[in-house]
Amino acid sequence: MTAVRRTFGTSIVSGALTLVAFGCSKQATPVSSGGGRGRPNLVLITMDTTRADHLGCYGDRDAATPRLDALARDGVVFDHAFAVAPLTFPSHASMLTGRYPPATGVRDNGDFRLPEAETTLAEHLRAQGYRARASVGSFVLAGELGLAQGFEAYAEPPAPRLAGVADPAVARLERIPQRPAARVADEALTAIDAMKSGPFFLWVHFFDPHSPYTPPPPYAEAFKSRPYDGEIASMDAAIGRIVDGLSAAGVTDRTIVAAIADHGESLGEHGEATHGIYLYDATLHVPLIVRYPAKLRAGSRYAGLVSGVDLAPTLLELMELPPLPAAQGSSVASALVAGSVAEREPVYALGIGEVHRGPRAGGLRGRGRPGRDEEPGERAPRRPCRLAEAPRR
Ligand SMILES: [Zn+2]
Repeated sequence: MTAVRRTFGTSIVSGALTLVAFGCSKQATPVSSGGGRGRPNLVLITMDTTRADHLGCYGDRDAATPRLDALARDGVVFDHAFAVAPLTFPSHASMLTGRYPPATGVRDNGDFRLPEAETTLAEHLRAQGYRARASVGSFVLAGELGLAQGFEAYAEPPAPRLAGVADPAVARLERIPQRPAARVADEALTAIDAMKSGPFFLWVHFFDPHSPYTPPPPYAEAFKSRPYDGEIASMDAAIGRIVDGLSAAGVTDRTIVAAIADHGESLGEHGEATHGIYLYDATLHVPLIVRYPAKLRAGSRYAGLVSGVDLAPTLLELMELPPLPAAQGSSVASALVAGSVAEREPVYALGIGEVHRGPRAGGLRGRGRPGRDEEPGERAPRRPCRLAEAPRR
């Protein structure tokens, strides 16, 4: 319920959390040429509300995520990936532009819009001759909010029915239209079939792990005591269908598959049921897996710190394409290819409202009370903190 309210509530961005990588080392190996094999395809899978530590490849022995774990064995697992915000729309807007919420203007769900002036990854790839389609699972990411920029097709849930409700915002609070993983995967497979001659960009968004936790059969029965994990398991199976679809289309070797969460889920930690308020690891530490057989070593892990804003810059460099013109994130592609760790600036996460300030003073990663003057793009951070010094959960 908290998440739903946060989803469409009025917001005030009041803070930024600074995270600094530790154990950095320099490297300068450029991403090597692909040798003229043609431009790779890109499949970006965003997993809503998915904690890293609920996947097998992140150490959860009880996880039922065989397909994501297989993707991890075939690709690179990022150990320290962080969302820019514990909220769906801001996090996605930043991943798809490489820019932080104060730059995109998308600081919360619902009442915000990604401006036309922003250059999305889809727009950028279309300008490079790519085809681009999207299949999203939730109305939170409705195309009308600006995320459809650049896509030739944008499959999404229908807008909520507002009949009998005077205030649209209130109507949206009642229920977020969404589509199950199986349906989203069906459309993704259709898109792969339509675009397989390439090069193409496909963005697939799964909303299933978001509350309420109501996995479909057979996961409902198998995960009766932990339905959140049942939702993740259901999503995992759908992701497996997409991976299989790429294989059936014969494009695995020339397709980058990147799977990342927009944020995690608190599951009661720190007194937060879902997500959207606090800036703890529970909602900020996200899984990130990238598979690209042509360049990335299978079964490797990346120890450096990365943010959602680094995703698009990194993918574009791996694809040997020009960078997004105004991205604030940094590519770590060279380090990935070299098997090293990129040196980088601090990354930020932004919360909403006033309430997260108290817990920050009580042991969050970050020191002191954050303020607007610490938001990236406005002023440089003054009080960075080292993750290694931060208390564990
Ligand atoms: Zn989300």
